[in-house]
Amino acid sequence: MPVPMPNARSPLTVVLDMDETLVHSKLELRCPQGNILPIVDPRQSEDRSKALQEPEVPHDFEFSIPLSPVANGELAVRVHKRPGLDDFLEEASSFCNLAVYTAGTEDYAQALLDLLDPCGRMKIRLFRDSCSVVDGLFLKDLQKVPGELSRMVLVDNSPASLLLQPDNSILVSSFYTDPCDNALYKLLPILRELHRMDDVRHYLVKEFALRTALEHSGYNLTEISLKHESLANQMESQNSENMKPSYSLKQGISVKG
Ligand SMILES: [Mg+2]
Repeated sequence: MPVPMPNARSPLTVVLDMDETLVHSKLELRCPQGNILPIVDPRQSEDRSKALQEPEVPHDFEFSIPLSPVANGELAVRVHKRPGLDDFLEEASSFCNLAVYTAGTEDYAQALLDLLDPCGRMKIRLFRDSCSVVDGLFLKDLQKVPGELSRMVLVDNSPASLLLQPDNSILVSSFYTDPCDNALYKLLPILRELHRMDDVRHYLVKEFALRTALEHSGYNLTEISLKHESLANQMESQNSENMKPSYSLKQGISVKG
């Protein structure tokens, strides 16, 4: 059995949000009969009104999700990649473990990720059913991601996603279609810094102080953590009775085509 090297660190795990962090998607409902159908938005629910102010640029790829046989239609998804994304994934995956953790639904996110990352550089994928819904917010719990919290960072555009482990988080601006966006270029040197640290939280707290910023924005982090723990306990007891989790309910906004 190999003897562990003294002071050997576990790999840095970088947990990436998908929508508005790596990509921006535009949805179009295609229905042969011209019917207007209420559907659930497969993306994380958030204000995307700023997308309308950004330039119209060609999308990078598209796919469609079939609706139910009864609805007889499909949801077309046009995807814009954040500038530098391919290089970022290539370079970041050379020195850390990449995971994606999205509040998007699994059918939507799997289809998108298969096209976005065909080589599987983001080895771990977590979807909406891995989020906790507290007060209508999708929370991401890094305890569900394999790896040590001291060597893990979540990169997300949504403050709500960070509420459970703000000391492990980097908040990035939302990406829509801006071809001059450079967030991923700025992120890479930070990840290289974190890669050299035993506990990334010291650096992240000092640099970004997200816990303080979130509390100043009105989030009661203690109350949110308590609600999350209560829901997690409920789920655990339900799972032990072979029942479905009560807090993986699909939520979203209605869109019309
Ligand atoms: Mg997002």
